[in-house]
Amino acid sequence: MEHDRAVQLLKSTGALLEGHFLLTSGNHSDTYIQCALLLSHPHTSLAFMEDIAEHFSGQRIDTVVAPAVGGIIVAYEVARLLRTRAIFLEREQGMMTFRRGFRIERGEAVLIVEDVITTGGSVIEVGDSVRAAGGTVRGYASIVNRSSGRFKPDEPYYYSLEMDVPMYKPDACPLCAQNIPAVKPGSRNLKG
Ligand SMILES: [Zn+2]
Repeated sequence: MEHDRAVQLLKSTGALLEGHFLLTSGNHSDTYIQCALLLSHPHTSLAFMEDIAEHFSGQRIDTVVAPAVGGIIVAYEVARLLRTRAIFLEREQGMMTFRRGFRIERGEAVLIVEDVITTGGSVIEVGDSVRAAGGTVRGYASIVNRSSGRFKPDEPYYYSLEMDVPMYKPDACPLCAQNIPAVKPGSRNLKG
C-alpha cells in the first residue's frame, strides 16, 4: 500500500498519533501506534486486509494463523478474502498453544498474520508451533512493520506500512529538551 495512504488511514482512526509520549517502557517517543483503534473501524481497516490478501492471492494458502489478541481480526478478514480458514494461537503457561479445537493438518500451507510486528517474537513462536504440527509456513504479513529490520524470517514477509519509530531515554529526549509536555498514550486528554 502507498505509504501516505496507509498513514492517512491510521490517523483517521486515531491509531497513529504524533506528539510527545511517555511509553510504558519508560522511554519517550514522538509517535504512538495503537492498531486496535484502526481495527475498531472495520470498514477502514479492510483496505489493509485487502492489501495483504491481494499480495498472497496467487499462492496456495490453506489457513491463516495469528497470535492472539492483535492478529485475530487480521487473520479473520484476510482469510475471508482468501476464502480460507482462520485460526489463532494463545499463550498458555508462556507457550503459544492451539486451543478451542484449533489444529493444523500435516502439509497445510499457512500464512501467519499480525497487526503490528515489533520484534517478531510472537509470530516466530506461532511459526514454530505450525511447523511442529506438520504445517508449512508460506509467509508472514502484518499491517505495520515497526521491527526496523529486526524481523527477517526465511519465508516472505509482506507488510502494508513500515514505520521506524524513534525512542529516546528521558535524559536524551529532544522533545523534553524543548520543554514539550509528555503524555501517556491512551489518556483521556489525548487528541488524534
Ligand atoms: Zn521526552
